[in-house]
Amino acid sequence: MNKGIPIVISAPSGCGKDTILEQLFKINDNLAYSVSATTRAMREGEIDGVSYHFHTRESFKSMIKNNEVLEYTEYCGNYYGTPKKAVQDMLNEGKDVILKIEVEGAMNIKKIFPECVLIFILPPSFAELDRRLRKRGTETEETIAARIAQAKNELEFADKFDYLIVNGELEKAVTDVNTVILSEKMAAKRNSQLLEQIKNS
Ligand code: 5GP
Repeated sequence: MNKGIPIVISAPSGCGKDTILEQLFKINDNLAYSVSATTRAMREGEIDGVSYHFHTRESFKSMIKNNEVLEYTEYCGNYYGTPKKAVQDMLNEGKDVILKIEVEGAMNIKKIFPECVLIFILPPSFAELDRRLRKRGTETEETIAARIAQAKNELEFADKFDYLIVNGELEKAVTDVNTVILSEKMAAKRNSQLLEQIKNS
């Protein structure tokens, strides 16, 4: 059995990555999700162990010390990190593992797993991103400005990704992400064993 592929999805806040992933898991049954560890406070509706593994700063630091995270970052004053064993187990089971992480984490994952696929989700425009953030109704003028500024910073990393997908229309964005994954599964460089099997059959 081939090992699964690590698939990193990064996107600025407001680009709809959660909704895309929700739909993606409905149409692709070979995917598994890497549940990150974090020290940030749990938001309404989140479930420990499903949305994130919620940790104190002390227990997060001991995970780092014990080499239990593949990568970690400090983002807006909180730690976020990818648990190593869970990801390795899912890849060994042949699952393609989705890591929903920010851009620096994405760059680190590429160093650890050069065979990974990096997908960056873009808003159709900054005007549209601004409109979507306002529509949430939960953001102040200050946080909207901060999120737009942060999105602009994150976009500086976009050309280091393998694929850019614009989330203009949800259904199309979901199909585009899945098409990338399915195409990568068929890449010749990932299928040398299959080729040998067929040659010897
Ligand atoms: P939020 O607090 O909104 O859930 O996440 C904030 C940011 O942290 C998002 O960009 C999210 O993708 C990123 N993030 C979540 N988990 C991880 C992780 O394990 N590693 C890294 N590097 N970033 C993460």
